[in-house]
Amino acid sequence: MAQVLYVPIRLLRETQAHLEREAPREGVGLWAGRREVERVIPLPNVHPNPRTGYLAEPLALLRALKEMEREGLSLLAIYHSHPAGPALPSPTDRKEARWRVPYVIFGTDGFRAFLLPEGREVEVVPLYPP
Ligand SMILES: [Zn+2]
Repeated sequence: MAQVLYVPIRLLRETQAHLEREAPREGVGLWAGRREVERVIPLPNVHPNPRTGYLAEPLALLRALKEMEREGLSLLAIYHSHPAGPALPSPTDRKEARWRVPYVIFGTDGFRAFLLPEGREVEVVPLYPP
């Protein structure tokens, strides 16, 4: 499992643009790639209270995972936003964590990544073009 997430700055900005479009609702999506993030895959948030929670639409999630498999990409991380809170996992984020990939959280104070439910932090390293 990756202990460091490498993400080209262009894709980091693409992720932030997606989450800004969703605000004040939480946004959710996937980072897919091989050694580094190669694709940002936004997913619809179908949580009944989307300002305080996220739930990726199950069919869109399944389609995204199949497409990644076809392209030889791995799931590197799941991202979501806290439009009105810090980049820290909420109790619900911990309780509902099911995946063994880092959860990247974009909050009002920046972004951080964690393995959940335990909460160990994973470093996110932006890659700038040479
Ligand atoms: Zn959260």
